[in-house]
Amino acid sequence: MSWLTEFVRPKIRTLLGRREVPENLWLQCPSCQQMLFHTELEKNRKICTNCGHHMRPTVAERLAWTFDDGKSTRIELPKVPADPLRFRDSKRYTDRLREAREKTQLDDAIVVAHGSIGGQRAVVAVMAFEFIGGSMGAAVGEGIVAAAKLAVLQDAPLIVFTASGGARMQEGTISLMQMPRTVIATRLVKEAGLPFITVLTDPTTGGVTASFTMLGDIQIAEPGAEIGFAGARVIEQTVREKLPEGFQRSEYLLAHGVLDMVVKRTELAATLARVIGLLRVKEKAAA
Ligand SMILES: [Zn+2]
Repeated sequence: MSWLTEFVRPKIRTLLGRREVPENLWLQCPSCQQMLFHTELEKNRKICTNCGHHMRPTVAERLAWTFDDGKSTRIELPKVPADPLRFRDSKRYTDRLREAREKTQLDDAIVVAHGSIGGQRAVVAVMAFEFIGGSMGAAVGEGIVAAAKLAVLQDAPLIVFTASGGARMQEGTISLMQMPRTVIATRLVKEAGLPFITVLTDPTTGGVTASFTMLGDIQIAEPGAEIGFAGARVIEQTVREKLPEGFQRSEYLLAHGVLDMVVKRTELAATLARVIGLLRVKEKAAA
């Protein structure tokens, strides 16, 4: 993060109120350091016009880019017990949650919505990296289960956009329990004969990678996304070997058979529409 995004932008935001960034603001690309015009960047779906780096979007932007005409209906997700372990590190978990809610205007690190993609019904779950690193606790688990149930109810494919640092450590074992739970949720969708598509965005790591994320019928990733279980440094220290160039990035994983496609953000909605169309035609033919 640069001085501009870290300091100037939040200050300007507080002056002008939430999310109102002045149109003439410049931002620096974290990858190539090029200064980019805010409005240009927004038009280009937060992809650097100089180097093609995909910056992290908000949940609202992701939903708007994915559904036809940017229109979708969010569903209310089941409430989960707050802070079941009464966890405290440098801060109380309840305080962390409150701050994250104020900052993001989200209840937790997942949003579920339904609408149409390329004229076809679809249920989409989006993980919010901006909410405690997109970490998966009981609320995210509930969100994935609710999304799966909604897909079955609506006879629609389920698409999950992942962005996560892993398990929500403040929920201890409860967060780890979400791994089998989310796997079972994907089974609900598959048993109903519906497509389950994952779109892996930067970063997708830890318990999220090690559970439902890798079970997509089709696995798509955005260019340059970091995808893995443990971080590169941890692996290097464990295996005592230097890791190859681009290890744990979308393109490397595509070349090694982990992903089906790496798709530029600007082409993602059209690709999803095509994939859904192909999979559903097949199902109808098989039925
Ligand atoms: Zn760039």
